[in-house]
Amino acid sequence: MTTPADFHHIKRPEELFRLFARVTALPGVGDKVAKLLEKKMGGLVIDLLRHLPVGLIDRTKRPPLNMVEHGSIITVEVTVTSHDKPPKGSRRPVRVMAENETGHIDIVFFHARGDYVQKLLPVGAKRIVSGRAEWFQNKVQMAHPDHVVAPEKAHSLPAFEPVYPLTAGLTPKTLGKALSAATERIPKLEEWIDPDILTRFNWPAWDTAMREVHAPQKEADVLPGSPPRSRLAYDELLANQLALALVRQSSSKMSGRVTKGDGGLRAQLLASLPFDLTGAQKRVVTEILADQSSEDRMLRLVQGDVGSGKTLVALLAMLNAIETGRQAAMLVPTEILARQHHQTLTRMLEPLGISPGLLLGKMKISEKRSVLEGVSDGRVQIVIGTHALLTDAVEFHDLALGVVDEQHRFGVRQRLVLGEKGNGVDVLVMTATPIPRTLAMTAYGDLLSSRIDEKPPGRKDVTTTALPIERVDDVIHRLRSALAGGQRIYWICPLVDESDAIDVAAAEERHIMLNAALPEANATLVHGRMDAETRETAMEAFRTGQSQLLVATTVVEVGVDVPEAGIMIIEHAERFGLAQMHQLRGRVGRGRDSANCLLLYKGPLSETARARLSIMRESNDGFRIAEEDLKLRGPGEVLGRRQSGDPEFQLADLACHADLLEIARDQVMGFLENNPALDGPEGKRLKNLLALFERDMAVTYLSGG
Ligand code: ADP
Ligand code: MG
Repeated sequence: MTTPADFHHIKRPEELFRLFARVTALPGVGDKVAKLLEKKMGGLVIDLLRHLPVGLIDRTKRPPLNMVEHGSIITVEVTVTSHDKPPKGSRRPVRVMAENETGHIDIVFFHARGDYVQKLLPVGAKRIVSGRAEWFQNKVQMAHPDHVVAPEKAHSLPAFEPVYPLTAGLTPKTLGKALSAATERIPKLEEWIDPDILTRFNWPAWDTAMREVHAPQKEADVLPGSPPRSRLAYDELLANQLALALVRQSSSKMSGRVTKGDGGLRAQLLASLPFDLTGAQKRVVTEILADQSSEDRMLRLVQGDVGSGKTLVALLAMLNAIETGRQAAMLVPTEILARQHHQTLTRMLEPLGISPGLLLGKMKISEKRSVLEGVSDGRVQIVIGTHALLTDAVEFHDLALGVVDEQHRFGVRQRLVLGEKGNGVDVLVMTATPIPRTLAMTAYGDLLSSRIDEKPPGRKDVTTTALPIERVDDVIHRLRSALAGGQRIYWICPLVDESDAIDVAAAEERHIMLNAALPEANATLVHGRMDAETRETAMEAFRTGQSQLLVATTVVEVGVDVPEAGIMIIEHAERFGLAQMHQLRGRVGRGRDSANCLLLYKGPLSETARARLSIMRESNDGFRIAEEDLKLRGPGEVLGRRQSGDPEFQLADLACHADLLEIARDQVMGFLENNPALDGPEGKRLKNLLALFERDMAVTYLSGG
């Protein structure tokens, strides 16, 4: 949905003005209709045009009346033979009897007012009627025809009518009218797609495509692969790739610096570890060090399943920066995770004489001030923090490397801000949610990426079972013996929204219940509404084993590391997404013993929920789970775009248009190589494209804005 205010400082090309007008500018669209449209698809003419039909009504089907298929849309020419008008006050409908040489039909109107029906279908007249027909008591019947026209006006009846997703109060007629007014505003724009690509796919021009998608003539026309739809999808992907490339171009233009330490600190750290790096860790570290030691700025994505050892990889890159006398920062999405990372790194770096700083939004002013001072005078060599790291108050002495952990919760903008907190800052983005290649491309463009595709030795697959919540007593019974054997157990209650008191109450209730049933576990509770200190005390009790059962809302989702925990119970598993469940499950199976995950669900299960649970039972492979997730949820949710504020695609569907993405990327690369500033008429066409898809912001990166 478009918010014009976001773009107030950018000049939109004049030929697009009429598309970015409010829908109320269209004839017949008043405030009431505008509100409905706005709710469904956005308040601008362009939003309306991007609202594509999902189906097609074929009004060319004219079957004999005695052969009508129940429930089908038919169009027939008939003569009206009689009316049956119920007496005043009766609730019976008005019934119009009509016929032709192939049979009879009853046309029915409920709540018809006055002589409306009389005028529409006078006795003795010939009419063409079109609508859904049904068999009722051995007669063909049509209630409230969509169209009734006299034979001499047959041409006014559309042969095919698109079907749009609607919202309560918005009728097809109203939307249709608004849309046909909107299509009249479609301007002719100069072509931005390479001519070879246009001919290869036989695509129409943009304005033609825009009109054709709203005037389907056959079923195939409403499928994503139809030429006009593919063309518009390509436009959207091209705009996406161009915007990303411009951002990237501007950030690598500020040249990087060579960061090449002597390896001293790294050697010391590796010597202190009770294990060796895995092959995958070694490979990825080598890739990162090569980036750091080059003169270009690094922008690299590291993907690795939960427990694959990303933190250590990041730490080695940070130490490389510190060896050169410069600083490193790590941005993490939640406070609890920031504290956890801080603790882990403090422990690991102690023998090296390095003590990392911690910066949180909620810290006391005095605490904050001392960290900020250390960061600005260079005494703090590594700082870990939440969004607080991005504020203006944070000034580095000399930042060399920014690490962004669990990137899918952050947007491109945060990454840029971190990168601007120093001179030629390298950025390393780490994610535990394996991102399919196509998605990575739409989110990051041509970001280099590394995969840690191997887990530390000894990691066991987690055995996963699903059980209905009604069996909770059995579960508790089984936990008793696990507790006696010294097990540590997570019990996760779903949290729909961090501010949702109801869910916190559910977790509190579960905590009380488990405490009563399993007093020996000394259960503790953590949730997002607790203050940090209480939460930290509870986590600490679980970490040390003083408590064997941690009841938590999903705050433990990312990064928490208690190797002794071997059982993960997820309550209301049917409410969780696949990626989220997999992340949670990754919290166990880190120790030496085999681990179990129990998915407690409340039936009846939707088909999707059932599919998710069975994938979880079948697979421990994060990459496979991510692919399945993409199929079940669609790309927008997998990337968590809603959180990062990026708009989802409206016209492109990555499940069908993935191949177009690479072509779009190549077109962008080819173009920018010759014309990085988008100069001249060719550049202007591409700027039009960016404006059309509201990626205008990217243009500001041309001037380094
Ligand atoms: P991630 O962030 O990828 O989920 P972590 O970095 O938190 O994973 O690592 C999980 C655990 O594995 C930590 O306890 C860490 O010390 C340990 N670990 C990391 N690398 C290795 C390795 N090569 N061999 C054994 N254990 C490792
Ligand atoms: Mg991690």
